[in-house]
Amino acid sequence: MMMSSLAGFLLLSGCGRSDHISHTTTSVTLINEQNGAADIDVFVVDEIDFEILIPDNIDRKVTLEASSDDDYEFLCWIDMQKDKEVSTSTEFVVDDKEGVTLRAHFRKRPKKVCGDDILAVVGKETMLGFYEPDDLKLIDPEQRKHKGKKLREEAALALNELLKAAQKEGVNFEIKSAYRSYETQERLFHRYKTVHGVLKSEKFSARPGQSEHQLGTAVDFGGTRFDFSVEFENTLQGKWLMDHAFLYGFALSYPEGGEEHTGYIYEPWHYRYIGVKHAEKWKISGLALIEYLKSIDY
Ligand SMILES: [Zn+2]
Repeated sequence: MMMSSLAGFLLLSGCGRSDHISHTTTSVTLINEQNGAADIDVFVVDEIDFEILIPDNIDRKVTLEASSDDDYEFLCWIDMQKDKEVSTSTEFVVDDKEGVTLRAHFRKRPKKVCGDDILAVVGKETMLGFYEPDDLKLIDPEQRKHKGKKLREEAALALNELLKAAQKEGVNFEIKSAYRSYETQERLFHRYKTVHGVLKSEKFSARPGQSEHQLGTAVDFGGTRFDFSVEFENTLQGKWLMDHAFLYGFALSYPEGGEEHTGYIYEPWHYRYIGVKHAEKWKISGLALIEYLKSIDY
């Protein structure tokens, strides 16, 4: 753990006193709720995060309040000894006599992008907002397969071409997920967050407004015993996609070892339609999709 600079040293005393420790963009307020005095250290970590060291001789409640300017947002409080996320609400009350080191964890607020752009950069640093495509079509209009699942028209046509070609080679798919609205993603992320905490959930799920599925061009392929698992890559279906998906305009969004760029663990089942021309260029580039999309000038 690196502490880049000492932002403040607080001596709290008296009743109802509050101290405000701020960095350029983020801040933490310590509110002393009861009488008494205690030394509480506050450090700035990683430019925007704070670490608050509350000693074990403290015998009263301390309330912490995290806030930030518009360019940043608060993510969660982390108990550093337990290496565990303890709350996502900006206010946090410490009444533990054991002493604790808490981190106030922030992030830069994502940049708004327009989902209509087939090449939109969608990831942890960007935000689609409540975007909803206006040309969503059922993947199978006759509803014999892929019940109710929709994609944008161009992507739905391309997917059907892909499915036909695969079928001719004896490879059959089930479409596990296609378009998902902001609201659906919100419910999904909330469920994950409740079980795993926000930091862990973010590695395998997008926050609402940040999912490629909201674009109406992303598809989760399945139809194997290993759906939604890394082993999908070794199935007939997984291998076929790896070799052929780009020919139909689909790119693998979250490659193995790409977490540093994508923010997501390897998902061999998740592909996004970007058109044949770009999918071919992406394939040759060897880049993670998001890096490719950031690199193109259009
Ligand atoms: Zn997916």
